[in-house]
Amino acid sequence: MQNEKKRPELQKKKRIVIKIGSSSLMHPQTDNLNFAKIEKLVRELCDLRNTGMDVCLVSSGAIAVGRQVIGVPANTDSRSGGHTNSNARKQACAAVGQARLMMTYQKIFSEYHQTVGQILMSKNTMILPESKENARNTFCELFRMGVIPIVNENDTVSTFEMQFGDNDTLSALVTSLVGADLLVLLSDIDGLYTDDPRSNAQARLIPYVRTIDEELLQMGKESTGSFMGTGGMNTKLSAAQIATKAGADMIITNSDDLNVLHHLFDNTYKGTLFTAL
Ligand code: GLU
Repeated sequence: MQNEKKRPELQKKKRIVIKIGSSSLMHPQTDNLNFAKIEKLVRELCDLRNTGMDVCLVSSGAIAVGRQVIGVPANTDSRSGGHTNSNARKQACAAVGQARLMMTYQKIFSEYHQTVGQILMSKNTMILPESKENARNTFCELFRMGVIPIVNENDTVSTFEMQFGDNDTLSALVTSLVGADLLVLLSDIDGLYTDDPRSNAQARLIPYVRTIDEELLQMGKESTGSFMGTGGMNTKLSAAQIATKAGADMIITNSDDLNVLHHLFDNTYKGTLFTAL
């Protein structure tokens, strides 16, 4: 089976997009930001940038951080208090959280003399040709200036119909938009497994996927529970389809040890590589 072959080494990359999810940025016990981890992420990204690559970060966390700042528990999303519905509450949390998140990033990146910029996107940005072109030009200008763009969905205003919904998809679309040649999804799991490793001890990590075939997509759908929820393997597989079709390699790896970003190019990282079509 072609997906079992030895994993090839990554070629030199010019432009790399790295996505990190909310759960990787917070302490699970308290939902507070994990500063040590964010510092490590920032240092790794600055180092990648210092090797001459264009670097773009797609970071979730707006809603989760906002909830924490305001003190809104995640399970209070039911309609409450007359005019305040759960969506407005979530979007209000995102408004606060996005600002807090950027302040944190900006502060730490500046310690490494690295300038960052914020890009918030909605589906419309990708659908309307003029907006898409505008966004592409902005990204390219930021790269030319040596700035690291930090991207998130525009959670404060995007309506349900216009939501990407998950940042796996968003990061793959950004990869395609900016012509990046590598997308790295930093996840809470080591990579793509033959089954959910949390419930099946026989599940094996798949180090290399050359073709995303029906069998693989089916495997994604069959698994259950949080493994496959929003931002689960399903969305990662469709991100891989978008990224590889756009000519980029994609890696799923664990955000537990961000030192992994140092090992992408010596092929010693634990994770799954999907190669560009
Ligand atoms: N855009 C959302 C946020 O920043 C997260 C989406 C996701 O986790 O995929 O809270």
